[in-house]
Amino acid sequence: MAEILSHIKLNMDESLLKRLCDYQETLWLNPDYGTSLASASDVSSDVSQETVFRANRLLERFAPYLETVFPETQVSNGIIESPIQEMQNIKEYLSIPGHVLIKRDDLMPVSGSIKSRGGIYEVLVFAEKLAAKNGFNPNTDDYRDLAQERFKKIFGQWKIEVASTGNLGLSVGLMASTLGFQARVHMSHDATEWKINKLRQNGVQVVIYNDNFSNAVTMARAASKKDDHSYFVDDEASKILFAGYATAGERVKQQIADLGIEVSKEKPLVVYLPAGVGGSPSGVAFGLKIQFGDSVMPIFVEPTHMPSVLLGMASGLNHDISVYDIGIDGKTAADGLAVGRPSLIAGKYMQNKLFGIATVSDEHMFAFQGMLKKLENIEAEPSAVVGIQGLLASQKIKAIPSEATHMIWSTGGSMVPRETMNQYEKNALKYFAHWRV
Ligand SMILES: *Cc1c(COP(=O)(O)O)cnc(C)c1O
Repeated sequence: MAEILSHIKLNMDESLLKRLCDYQETLWLNPDYGTSLASASDVSSDVSQETVFRANRLLERFAPYLETVFPETQVSNGIIESPIQEMQNIKEYLSIPGHVLIKRDDLMPVSGSIKSRGGIYEVLVFAEKLAAKNGFNPNTDDYRDLAQERFKKIFGQWKIEVASTGNLGLSVGLMASTLGFQARVHMSHDATEWKINKLRQNGVQVVIYNDNFSNAVTMARAASKKDDHSYFVDDEASKILFAGYATAGERVKQQIADLGIEVSKEKPLVVYLPAGVGGSPSGVAFGLKIQFGDSVMPIFVEPTHMPSVLLGMASGLNHDISVYDIGIDGKTAADGLAVGRPSLIAGKYMQNKLFGIATVSDEHMFAFQGMLKKLENIEAEPSAVVGIQGLLASQKIKAIPSEATHMIWSTGGSMVPRETMNQYEKNALKYFAHWRV
Protein backbone atom coordinates (compact mmCIF):
# COMPACT_ATOMS: atom_id res chain seq x y z
CA MET A 1 0.00 0.00 0.00
CA ALA A 2 2.88 2.30 0.79
CA GLU A 3 3.96 1.93 -2.80
CA ILE A 4 0.94 3.71 -4.29
CA LEU A 5 2.31 6.52 -6.42
CA SER A 6 1.75 9.82 -4.70
CA HIS A 7 0.47 11.65 -7.81
CA ILE A 8 -2.49 9.30 -8.09
CA LYS A 9 -5.57 10.28 -6.20
CA LEU A 10 -7.62 7.17 -5.63
CA ASN A 11 -11.30 7.42 -5.02
CA MET A 12 -12.13 3.86 -4.13
CA ASP A 13 -13.06 1.64 -1.25
CA GLU A 14 -10.04 1.13 1.05
CA SER A 15 -10.78 -2.51 1.80
CA LEU A 16 -11.14 -3.31 -1.92
CA LEU A 17 -7.83 -1.60 -2.62
CA LYS A 18 -6.19 -3.58 0.15
CA ARG A 19 -7.54 -6.87 -1.22
CA LEU A 20 -6.16 -6.02 -4.66
CA CYS A 21 -2.76 -5.11 -3.24
CA ASP A 22 -2.70 -8.32 -1.20
CA TYR A 23 -3.52 -10.41 -4.32
CA GLN A 24 -6.69 -11.72 -2.63
CA GLU A 25 -9.41 -13.16 -4.84
CA THR A 26 -12.13 -10.53 -4.99
CA LEU A 27 -15.60 -9.98 -6.35
CA TRP A 28 -16.42 -6.39 -7.22
CA LEU A 29 -20.06 -5.56 -7.94
CA ASN A 30 -20.51 -2.51 -10.13
CA PRO A 31 -22.57 0.12 -8.24
CA ASP A 32 -23.55 1.79 -11.57
CA TYR A 33 -24.94 -1.41 -13.10
CA GLY A 34 -28.29 -0.80 -14.77
CA THR A 35 -28.39 2.90 -13.92
CA SER A 36 -28.86 5.56 -16.55
CA LEU A 37 -25.81 7.73 -16.79
CA ALA A 38 -25.70 11.43 -17.40
CA SER A 39 -22.59 10.91 -19.49
CA ALA A 40 -23.88 7.88 -21.41
CA SER A 41 -24.67 9.88 -24.52
CA ASP A 42 -21.11 10.84 -25.32
CA VAL A 43 -20.04 7.24 -25.69
CA SER A 44 -23.21 5.77 -27.14
CA SER A 45 -22.89 8.23 -30.01
CA ASP A 46 -19.84 6.47 -31.43
CA VAL A 47 -20.43 2.73 -31.29
CA SER A 48 -24.17 2.18 -31.46
CA GLN A 49 -26.64 -0.56 -32.25
CA GLU A 50 -26.47 0.65 -35.85
CA THR A 51 -22.65 0.38 -35.95
CA VAL A 52 -22.78 -3.20 -34.71
CA PHE A 53 -25.56 -4.09 -37.17
CA ARG A 54 -23.45 -2.76 -40.03
CA ALA A 55 -20.41 -4.66 -38.78
CA ASN A 56 -22.35 -7.91 -39.01
CA ARG A 57 -23.39 -7.10 -42.58
CA LEU A 58 -19.80 -6.35 -43.60
CA LEU A 59 -18.70 -9.75 -42.30
CA GLU A 60 -21.49 -11.34 -44.33
CA ARG A 61 -20.30 -9.54 -47.48
CA PHE A 62 -16.80 -10.92 -46.92
CA ALA A 63 -18.02 -14.48 -46.19
CA PRO A 64 -17.50 -15.76 -49.77
CA TYR A 65 -13.92 -14.42 -49.68
CA LEU A 66 -13.18 -15.86 -46.22
CA GLU A 67 -14.52 -19.23 -47.27
CA THR A 68 -12.05 -19.19 -50.17
CA VAL A 69 -8.94 -18.23 -48.21
CA PHE A 70 -9.73 -20.07 -44.96
CA PRO A 71 -11.25 -23.43 -46.01
CA GLU A 72 -11.96 -24.28 -42.36
CA THR A 73 -14.77 -21.69 -42.51
CA GLN A 74 -16.62 -23.59 -45.26
CA VAL A 75 -18.76 -25.40 -42.67
CA SER A 76 -20.21 -22.02 -41.61
CA ASN A 77 -20.26 -20.57 -45.15
CA GLY A 78 -17.44 -18.14 -44.42
CA ILE A 79 -18.88 -16.82 -41.17
CA ILE A 80 -16.19 -16.93 -38.49
CA GLU A 81 -18.03 -18.20 -35.43
CA SER A 82 -17.76 -20.75 -32.62
CA PRO A 83 -20.28 -23.20 -31.14
CA ILE A 84 -22.02 -23.07 -27.75
CA GLN A 85 -22.15 -26.32 -25.78
CA GLU A 86 -23.80 -27.49 -22.57
CA MET A 87 -21.37 -28.57 -19.82
CA GLN A 88 -23.46 -31.15 -18.00
CA ASN A 89 -20.55 -32.71 -16.08
CA ILE A 90 -19.28 -29.42 -14.69
CA LYS A 91 -22.84 -28.35 -13.88
CA GLU A 92 -23.29 -31.49 -11.78
CA TYR A 93 -19.81 -31.40 -10.30
CA LEU A 94 -20.28 -27.82 -9.08
CA SER A 95 -24.00 -28.29 -8.25
CA ILE A 96 -25.12 -25.32 -10.36
CA PRO A 97 -28.94 -25.23 -10.64
CA GLY A 98 -29.38 -23.65 -14.11
CA HIS A 99 -27.88 -24.43 -17.52
CA VAL A 100 -24.09 -24.24 -17.69
CA LEU A 101 -22.88 -23.41 -21.20
CA ILE A 102 -19.50 -22.80 -22.74
CA LYS A 103 -18.87 -20.51 -25.70
CA ARG A 104 -16.05 -22.17 -27.60
CA ASP A 105 -14.03 -19.21 -28.85
CA ASP A 106 -11.01 -21.44 -28.30
CA LEU A 107 -12.20 -23.02 -31.56
CA MET A 108 -12.57 -19.76 -33.51
CA PRO A 109 -11.10 -20.11 -37.01
CA VAL A 110 -7.87 -18.27 -37.96
CA SER A 111 -6.50 -17.29 -34.52
CA GLY A 112 -8.08 -19.96 -32.31
CA SER A 113 -9.27 -17.20 -30.00
CA ILE A 114 -11.81 -14.46 -29.34
CA LYS A 115 -9.42 -12.11 -31.19
CA SER A 116 -10.71 -13.47 -34.51
CA ARG A 117 -13.81 -11.35 -33.89
CA GLY A 118 -12.29 -7.88 -33.62
CA GLY A 119 -8.95 -8.28 -35.38
CA ILE A 120 -10.26 -9.80 -38.59
CA TYR A 121 -13.10 -7.32 -38.74
CA GLU A 122 -10.84 -4.28 -38.47
CA VAL A 123 -8.50 -5.57 -41.18
CA LEU A 124 -11.49 -6.25 -43.47
CA VAL A 125 -12.93 -2.75 -42.90
CA PHE A 126 -9.62 -1.24 -44.00
CA ALA A 127 -9.29 -3.64 -46.95
CA GLU A 128 -12.80 -2.89 -48.20
CA LYS A 129 -12.16 0.87 -48.12
CA LEU A 130 -8.86 0.50 -49.92
CA ALA A 131 -10.37 -1.82 -52.53
CA ALA A 132 -13.27 0.58 -53.09
CA LYS A 133 -10.81 3.39 -53.80
CA ASN A 134 -9.19 1.16 -56.38
CA GLY A 135 -12.09 0.15 -58.56
CA PHE A 136 -13.86 -2.45 -56.41
CA ASN A 137 -17.61 -1.94 -56.10
CA PRO A 138 -18.82 -3.35 -52.74
CA ASN A 139 -22.44 -3.32 -53.95
CA THR A 140 -22.01 -5.31 -57.13
CA ASP A 141 -18.59 -7.00 -57.25
CA ASP A 142 -17.71 -10.50 -56.07
CA TYR A 143 -15.69 -10.40 -52.84
CA ARG A 144 -13.80 -13.50 -53.95
CA ASP A 145 -12.08 -11.22 -56.49
CA LEU A 146 -10.17 -9.68 -53.59
CA ALA A 147 -7.97 -12.78 -53.60
CA GLN A 148 -6.73 -11.83 -57.08
CA GLU A 149 -3.21 -10.61 -57.72
CA ARG A 150 -4.33 -7.09 -58.70
CA PHE A 151 -5.81 -6.48 -55.23
CA LYS A 152 -2.95 -8.21 -53.44
CA LYS A 153 -0.64 -5.73 -55.18
CA ILE A 154 -2.70 -2.79 -53.93
CA PHE A 155 -2.85 -4.16 -50.39
CA GLY A 156 0.89 -4.93 -50.53
CA GLN A 157 1.66 -1.22 -50.63
CA TRP A 158 0.34 -0.96 -47.08
CA LYS A 159 1.57 -2.17 -43.75
CA ILE A 160 -0.88 -3.26 -41.07
CA GLU A 161 0.52 -3.10 -37.56
CA VAL A 162 -0.73 -4.16 -34.16
CA ALA A 163 0.61 -4.53 -30.64
CA SER A 164 -0.49 -7.72 -28.97
CA THR A 165 0.08 -10.09 -26.08
CA GLY A 166 -0.25 -12.80 -28.75
CA ASN A 167 -3.68 -13.71 -29.99
CA LEU A 168 -4.61 -10.34 -31.47
CA GLY A 169 -1.31 -10.52 -33.34
CA LEU A 170 -2.31 -13.90 -34.76
CA SER A 171 -5.71 -12.63 -35.83
CA VAL A 172 -4.59 -9.34 -37.38
CA GLY A 173 -1.27 -10.71 -38.68
CA LEU A 174 -2.78 -13.77 -40.39
CA MET A 175 -5.73 -11.87 -41.90
CA ALA A 176 -3.51 -9.03 -43.11
CA SER A 177 -0.85 -11.26 -44.66
CA THR A 178 -3.52 -13.42 -46.33
CA LEU A 179 -4.95 -10.34 -48.05
CA GLY A 180 -1.45 -9.37 -49.20
CA PHE A 181 -0.68 -6.61 -46.72
CA GLN A 182 2.71 -6.34 -45.06
CA ALA A 183 2.00 -7.30 -41.46
CA ARG A 184 3.97 -6.31 -38.39
CA VAL A 185 3.16 -7.40 -34.84
CA HIS A 186 4.69 -5.70 -31.80
CA MET A 187 4.91 -7.85 -28.68
CA SER A 188 5.85 -7.43 -25.04
CA HIS A 189 8.65 -9.28 -23.25
CA ASP A 190 6.22 -11.97 -22.03
CA ALA A 191 5.07 -13.06 -25.50
CA THR A 192 4.74 -16.83 -25.85
CA GLU A 193 7.34 -18.54 -28.05
CA TRP A 194 4.89 -20.55 -30.15
CA LYS A 195 2.82 -17.47 -30.98
CA ILE A 196 5.95 -15.67 -32.20
CA ASN A 197 6.97 -18.68 -34.30
CA LYS A 198 3.54 -19.12 -35.83
CA LEU A 199 3.50 -15.47 -36.93
CA ARG A 200 6.98 -15.61 -38.43
CA GLN A 201 6.14 -18.83 -40.28
CA ASN A 202 3.25 -16.95 -41.89
CA GLY A 203 5.40 -14.11 -43.15
CA VAL A 204 4.47 -11.72 -40.36
CA GLN A 205 7.23 -9.47 -39.02
CA VAL A 206 7.50 -9.66 -35.23
CA VAL A 207 9.09 -6.98 -33.04
CA ILE A 208 9.69 -7.87 -29.39
CA TYR A 209 10.12 -5.14 -26.80
CA ASN A 210 11.97 -5.65 -23.57
CA ASP A 211 9.03 -4.02 -21.80
CA ASN A 212 5.47 -4.65 -20.62
CA PHE A 213 2.44 -4.68 -22.90
CA SER A 214 1.14 -1.17 -22.18
CA ASN A 215 4.52 0.34 -23.07
CA ALA A 216 4.81 -1.89 -26.14
CA VAL A 217 1.51 -0.47 -27.44
CA THR A 218 2.73 3.08 -26.96
CA MET A 219 5.95 2.38 -28.87
CA ALA A 220 4.17 0.49 -31.64
CA ARG A 221 1.62 3.27 -32.11
CA ALA A 222 4.43 5.82 -32.43
CA ALA A 223 6.30 3.65 -34.96
CA SER A 224 3.19 3.30 -37.11
CA LYS A 225 2.45 7.03 -37.01
CA LYS A 226 5.77 7.80 -38.68
CA ASP A 227 4.87 5.76 -41.75
CA ASP A 228 2.08 7.19 -43.93
CA HIS A 229 1.41 3.76 -45.46
CA SER A 230 0.94 2.09 -42.12
CA TYR A 231 -2.44 1.30 -40.58
CA PHE A 232 -2.42 0.67 -36.83
CA VAL A 233 -4.95 -1.58 -35.11
CA ASP A 234 -5.10 -0.04 -31.66
CA ASP A 235 -5.91 -2.60 -28.98
CA GLU A 236 -6.28 0.16 -26.38
CA ALA A 237 -8.55 2.49 -28.29
CA SER A 238 -10.09 1.14 -31.49
CA LYS A 239 -13.86 1.43 -31.81
CA ILE A 240 -13.72 -0.64 -34.99
CA LEU A 241 -12.17 -3.51 -33.05
CA PHE A 242 -14.84 -3.01 -30.39
CA ALA A 243 -17.65 -3.20 -32.97
CA GLY A 244 -16.12 -6.39 -34.37
CA TYR A 245 -16.28 -8.06 -30.95
CA ALA A 246 -19.85 -6.86 -30.54
CA THR A 247 -20.99 -8.78 -33.63
CA ALA A 248 -21.05 -11.82 -31.32
CA GLY A 249 -24.37 -10.57 -29.89
CA GLU A 250 -26.50 -11.37 -32.93
CA ARG A 251 -24.96 -14.81 -33.33
CA VAL A 252 -25.30 -15.74 -29.65
CA LYS A 253 -28.95 -14.66 -29.67
CA GLN A 254 -29.58 -17.12 -32.51
CA GLN A 255 -27.50 -19.91 -30.96
CA ILE A 256 -29.30 -19.65 -27.60
CA ALA A 257 -32.65 -19.73 -29.39
CA ASP A 258 -31.51 -22.80 -31.36
CA LEU A 259 -30.66 -24.55 -28.07
CA GLY A 260 -34.24 -23.87 -26.94
CA ILE A 261 -33.06 -21.96 -23.88
CA GLU A 262 -35.32 -19.19 -22.64
CA VAL A 263 -33.63 -15.97 -21.60
CA SER A 264 -35.64 -13.40 -19.67
CA LYS A 265 -35.31 -11.09 -16.70
CA GLU A 266 -36.39 -13.98 -14.46
CA LYS A 267 -34.03 -16.40 -16.25
CA PRO A 268 -31.10 -14.16 -17.17
CA LEU A 269 -28.04 -15.15 -19.14
CA VAL A 270 -24.95 -14.59 -16.98
CA VAL A 271 -21.82 -14.42 -19.11
CA TYR A 272 -18.27 -14.79 -17.75
CA LEU A 273 -15.57 -13.14 -19.84
CA PRO A 274 -11.78 -13.05 -19.26
CA ALA A 275 -10.45 -9.49 -19.46
CA GLY A 276 -7.02 -8.15 -20.42
CA VAL A 277 -7.28 -4.55 -21.64
CA GLY A 278 -11.02 -5.15 -21.52
CA GLY A 279 -11.62 -4.55 -25.22
CA SER A 280 -12.82 -7.97 -26.31
CA PRO A 281 -15.03 -8.71 -23.29
CA SER A 282 -16.52 -5.20 -23.40
CA GLY A 283 -17.25 -5.43 -27.10
CA VAL A 284 -18.89 -8.83 -26.65
CA ALA A 285 -20.86 -7.60 -23.62
CA PHE A 286 -21.98 -4.52 -25.56
CA GLY A 287 -23.24 -6.73 -28.41
CA LEU A 288 -25.04 -9.02 -25.95
CA LYS A 289 -26.69 -6.05 -24.24
CA ILE A 290 -28.05 -4.90 -27.62
CA GLN A 291 -29.67 -8.30 -28.10
CA PHE A 292 -30.74 -9.26 -24.58
CA GLY A 293 -30.99 -5.95 -22.71
CA ASP A 294 -31.55 -6.39 -18.97
CA SER A 295 -31.71 -10.16 -19.40
CA VAL A 296 -27.95 -10.51 -19.83
CA MET A 297 -25.54 -9.94 -16.94
CA PRO A 298 -21.89 -9.70 -18.01
CA ILE A 299 -19.15 -10.48 -15.48
CA PHE A 300 -15.43 -10.11 -16.24
CA VAL A 301 -12.67 -12.19 -14.69
CA GLU A 302 -9.05 -11.10 -14.23
CA PRO A 303 -5.93 -12.57 -12.59
CA THR A 304 -5.28 -11.41 -9.00
CA HIS A 305 -1.91 -10.15 -10.27
CA MET A 306 -3.45 -8.19 -13.16
CA PRO A 307 -6.77 -6.65 -12.05
CA SER A 308 -6.41 -3.77 -14.51
CA VAL A 309 -10.03 -3.30 -15.61
CA LEU A 310 -11.26 -3.72 -12.03
CA LEU A 311 -8.85 -1.05 -10.79
CA GLY A 312 -9.76 1.26 -13.68
CA MET A 313 -13.51 0.92 -13.22
CA ALA A 314 -13.66 0.87 -9.42
CA SER A 315 -11.47 3.98 -9.19
CA GLY A 316 -13.18 5.65 -12.15
CA LEU A 317 -9.72 6.39 -13.57
CA ASN A 318 -9.98 3.75 -16.32
CA HIS A 319 -6.99 4.09 -18.68
CA ASP A 320 -5.36 6.67 -16.38
CA ILE A 321 -4.26 4.04 -13.87
CA SER A 322 -2.26 0.84 -14.16
CA VAL A 323 -1.82 -1.97 -11.64
CA TYR A 324 1.86 -1.06 -11.38
CA ASP A 325 0.82 2.32 -9.93
CA ILE A 326 -0.49 0.58 -6.80
CA GLY A 327 2.50 -1.73 -6.50
CA ILE A 328 0.96 -4.83 -8.05
CA ASP A 329 3.61 -6.92 -9.81
CA GLY A 330 1.66 -8.05 -12.88
CA LYS A 331 3.06 -11.58 -12.71
CA THR A 332 0.64 -14.11 -14.18
CA ALA A 333 0.79 -17.11 -16.50
CA ALA A 334 -2.36 -15.85 -18.24
CA ASP A 335 -0.55 -14.23 -21.16
CA GLY A 336 -3.78 -13.08 -22.86
CA LEU A 337 -4.73 -11.20 -19.68
CA ALA A 338 -1.27 -9.91 -18.80
CA VAL A 339 -2.10 -6.26 -19.28
CA GLY A 340 -1.52 -3.69 -16.54
CA ARG A 341 -3.43 -0.76 -17.97
CA PRO A 342 -7.02 -1.02 -19.24
CA SER A 343 -8.24 0.15 -22.63
CA LEU A 344 -9.15 3.79 -23.25
CA ILE A 345 -12.76 2.95 -24.03
CA ALA A 346 -13.78 -0.31 -22.32
CA GLY A 347 -14.50 1.14 -18.88
CA LYS A 348 -16.62 3.93 -20.33
CA TYR A 349 -18.76 1.62 -22.43
CA MET A 350 -19.15 -0.78 -19.52
CA GLN A 351 -19.84 1.84 -16.86
CA ASN A 352 -23.50 0.87 -16.43
CA LYS A 353 -23.50 -2.40 -18.41
CA LEU A 354 -21.01 -4.56 -16.53
CA PHE A 355 -22.45 -6.41 -13.58
CA GLY A 356 -19.14 -7.04 -11.84
CA ILE A 357 -15.57 -8.34 -11.96
CA ALA A 358 -14.10 -11.36 -10.18
CA THR A 359 -10.38 -12.00 -9.75
CA VAL A 360 -8.68 -15.39 -9.68
CA SER A 361 -5.29 -16.73 -8.60
CA ASP A 362 -3.09 -18.49 -11.15
CA GLU A 363 -3.33 -21.68 -9.03
CA HIS A 364 -7.11 -21.72 -9.36
CA MET A 365 -6.87 -20.85 -13.04
CA PHE A 366 -4.70 -23.94 -13.57
CA ALA A 367 -7.18 -26.04 -11.59
CA PHE A 368 -10.03 -24.83 -13.85
CA GLN A 369 -7.99 -25.70 -16.91
CA GLY A 370 -7.66 -29.20 -15.45
CA MET A 371 -11.37 -29.29 -14.61
CA LEU A 372 -12.33 -28.49 -18.21
CA LYS A 373 -9.97 -31.13 -19.55
CA LYS A 374 -10.92 -33.85 -17.10
CA LEU A 375 -14.69 -33.34 -16.91
CA GLU A 376 -15.54 -32.00 -20.37
CA ASN A 377 -12.48 -32.95 -22.45
CA ILE A 378 -12.08 -29.33 -23.51
CA GLU A 379 -8.56 -28.04 -24.12
CA ALA A 380 -8.15 -24.32 -23.60
CA GLU A 381 -5.21 -22.05 -22.81
CA PRO A 382 -4.86 -20.75 -19.23
CA SER A 383 -6.34 -17.27 -19.91
CA ALA A 384 -9.40 -18.86 -21.48
CA VAL A 385 -10.70 -20.76 -18.45
CA VAL A 386 -10.95 -18.07 -15.78
CA GLY A 387 -14.69 -17.68 -16.39
CA ILE A 388 -15.21 -20.62 -14.02
CA GLN A 389 -14.16 -18.31 -11.18
CA GLY A 390 -17.04 -16.01 -12.13
CA LEU A 391 -19.43 -18.95 -12.18
CA LEU A 392 -18.39 -19.95 -8.65
CA ALA A 393 -18.64 -16.35 -7.41
CA SER A 394 -22.11 -15.95 -8.94
CA GLN A 395 -23.52 -18.59 -6.63
CA LYS A 396 -23.14 -16.16 -3.74
CA ILE A 397 -24.77 -13.21 -5.50
CA LYS A 398 -28.37 -12.68 -4.45
CA ALA A 399 -29.27 -10.69 -7.58
CA ILE A 400 -28.58 -13.77 -9.73
CA PRO A 401 -31.62 -16.08 -9.70
CA SER A 402 -31.19 -19.85 -9.43
CA GLU A 403 -32.92 -20.18 -12.80
CA ALA A 404 -30.16 -18.23 -14.54
CA THR A 405 -28.29 -19.71 -17.50
CA HIS A 406 -24.52 -19.43 -17.11
CA MET A 407 -22.13 -19.10 -20.02
CA ILE A 408 -18.36 -19.40 -19.65
CA TRP A 409 -16.63 -17.64 -22.54
CA SER A 410 -13.63 -19.82 -23.40
CA THR A 411 -11.40 -17.35 -25.21
CA GLY A 412 -8.54 -19.29 -26.77
CA GLY A 413 -6.68 -22.54 -27.22
CA SER A 414 -6.99 -24.45 -30.47
CA MET A 415 -3.79 -23.01 -31.96
CA VAL A 416 -1.65 -24.06 -28.99
CA PRO A 417 0.90 -26.61 -30.29
CA ARG A 418 0.28 -30.18 -29.05
CA GLU A 419 3.48 -30.31 -27.04
CA THR A 420 2.76 -27.03 -25.24
CA MET A 421 -0.81 -28.14 -24.53
CA ASN A 422 0.48 -31.43 -23.06
CA GLN A 423 2.70 -29.47 -20.68
CA TYR A 424 -0.17 -27.14 -19.78
CA GLU A 425 -2.40 -30.11 -19.04
CA LYS A 426 0.07 -32.05 -16.97
CA ASN A 427 0.36 -28.99 -14.74
CA ALA A 428 -3.39 -28.27 -14.81
CA LEU A 429 -4.48 -31.79 -13.85
CA LYS A 430 -2.10 -31.69 -10.89
CA TYR A 431 -3.72 -28.48 -9.65
CA PHE A 432 -7.20 -29.84 -10.28
CA ALA A 433 -6.43 -32.99 -8.25
CA HIS A 434 -5.87 -30.76 -5.20
CA TRP A 435 -8.71 -28.35 -5.89
CA ARG A 436 -11.74 -28.04 -3.57
CA VAL A 437 -14.76 -25.72 -4.01
C1 LIG B 1 -6.93 -11.08 -25.52
C2 LIG B 1 -7.47 -12.19 -24.76
C3 LIG B 1 -8.39 -11.97 -23.73
C4 LIG B 1 -8.82 -10.61 -23.25
O1 LIG B 1 -9.10 -9.64 -24.25
P1 LIG B 1 -8.84 -8.09 -23.95
O2 LIG B 1 -9.41 -7.41 -25.15
O3 LIG B 1 -7.37 -7.88 -23.83
O4 LIG B 1 -9.54 -7.77 -22.68
C5 LIG B 1 -8.88 -13.08 -23.08
N1 LIG B 1 -8.49 -14.33 -23.39
C6 LIG B 1 -7.61 -14.57 -24.37
C7 LIG B 1 -7.22 -15.98 -24.66
C8 LIG B 1 -7.08 -13.53 -25.09
O5 LIG B 1 -6.20 -13.77 -26.05
